[in-house]
Amino acid sequence: MREYDVAIVGGGVVGAAVAHELSHYRLNVVLLEKEEDLSFGVSKANSGIIHPGTQNPADSLKGRLCVEGNRLVREMSADLDLDFKEVGELVVAFDDSEVGRLWQLKQEGEALGVPGLEIVSREWLRDNEPNLNPDAVAALHAPTAGIISPYRFVFALSESAQLNGVEVLTRTRVEWIERISPAGPGEGARFVLAGAAGEFAARYVVNCGGLHADDIAAMVGACTFHIRPRKGEEYILDKKRRYLTRHLLFPVPTPESKGILVTRTSDGNPMIGPTAYEVDDREDLSTTDDGLRQVLAVAQRLVPAIDPRDIIAYFAGLRPAAGDDFVIRSESQAPGFVNVAGIQSPGLTAAPAIARHVAGLLSQTGMPLVPKDAPRRQNRRSVHLFSMPLGDARRLVEHDPECGDIVCRCETVSLREVKQAIEAGATTLDGVKFRTRAGAGRCHGSFCTCRIMRLLADETGRPVTAVSKRGAGSELVVEDRADG
Ligand SMILES: Cc1cc2nc3c(=O)[nH]c(=O)nc-3n(C[C@H](O)[C@H](O)[C@H](O)COP(=O)(O)OP(=O)(O)OC[C@H]3O[C@@H](n4cnc5c(N)ncnc54)[C@H](O)[C@@H]3O)c2cc1C
Repeated sequence: MREYDVAIVGGGVVGAAVAHELSHYRLNVVLLEKEEDLSFGVSKANSGIIHPGTQNPADSLKGRLCVEGNRLVREMSADLDLDFKEVGELVVAFDDSEVGRLWQLKQEGEALGVPGLEIVSREWLRDNEPNLNPDAVAALHAPTAGIISPYRFVFALSESAQLNGVEVLTRTRVEWIERISPAGPGEGARFVLAGAAGEFAARYVVNCGGLHADDIAAMVGACTFHIRPRKGEEYILDKKRRYLTRHLLFPVPTPESKGILVTRTSDGNPMIGPTAYEVDDREDLSTTDDGLRQVLAVAQRLVPAIDPRDIIAYFAGLRPAAGDDFVIRSESQAPGFVNVAGIQSPGLTAAPAIARHVAGLLSQTGMPLVPKDAPRRQNRRSVHLFSMPLGDARRLVEHDPECGDIVCRCETVSLREVKQAIEAGATTLDGVKFRTRAGAGRCHGSFCTCRIMRLLADETGRPVTAVSKRGAGSELVVEDRADG
């Protein structure tokens, strides 16, 4: 059986951030993820906003970790080659009572340490956000809000963790965990985590299981919370409308959610949503006509120029909520076991701060944190032709013809980028799409899917029948066995 100091269960943004944080210490760490690739859970389906920390109660853990997470993301941005862009956000008020709420939000944000908050006037809005509804009377401006590609964030964290010795195992579902009591004085407890992929022994376990965190906690009798998924439907607009807005635009928030907003992906597509309503089914990622109507009504109130005919894609994500705040604690029922659960929004933002908090909890329960002498840095920089000035792209193509061989026309993704994604660990069409955007454009992969499947088969030495969209059960080509 393989032995580790720490086993992290779950390879979303939180698990990857914990792996990245622990990789700075002299520890033997493994990350276990049940899906075919990392970031295939909640972390693939969100708004991609690095929130400044406003719109969180001043005394909340999620508020504190959001503000710190925002600071850490910008700090690690250059090192990890993150595509973080600071665009700023506006929480928009349409009448006097909403303006009163803006002052309250400003005060709460400042209590949490959010920098640079100011209330801006109707005139400021007219000059700086021309497509905003002219009925808006004021807004709370938070300049530190930004956008990021959520999946590329996860891959950057995990690749850096792997470079520094963390073992990442996908297709490894943890089905049961046994806690083995200390054999003698001075010896710590041990956990054995097991499933079809094998058995792993670890002195500490960090549960980052997202929507299934309560099931995982129950395996060691430490289920002190219940996950109640809250669905969010999002609608993506064509890139031709990329200049629709300059800032992220929010309405004044409700107690349940920050509200339906107008944002854009880090790759330039405007995006509207999300809704927020509780569901029972943890696999239900359907979108609804009602959701679309609701999203359009709020988004068009903020920006009347939004046209439903510009919607090119939609998705839903489930916030893994467990009450109002994050649940991050060492469990006394199972010493050495840390629950990191209820990581609803702003979990993407807070992930690096959550990871530091978890390292602190592990240290308090006796895990020695000895820093490595010189953590290794990722030197490989990914190439993204679509985000490059034309002159640079031309030089790149002259130097490397594979950069000029365009596989995905909608998103201008080259053969070099697809090969680089496969080299970095993509084994499925979604894995390639999340790393490169190939297949994420207006034609939804009609043009490039066959070629990417061929490349996946050739580069990984598998038959094309083994290539899938997102793992076992989603293969696209089936062998015809009718005539033997
Ligand atoms: C619609 C929507 C919009 C959002 N927008 C934002 C935003 O703009 N900004 C922001 O900061 N936050 C946002 N969030 C919140 C953010 O997406 C989440 O907080 C974050 O992604 C949670 O990450 P996670 O790692 O906890 O969960 P996940 O990404 O779900 O990771 C958990 C992983 O555990 C794995 N797993 C589960 N059980 C097992 C097992 N038994 N064995 C092995 N692996 C297992 C799963 O497969 C999964 O990959 C949004 C959420 C939604 C739904």
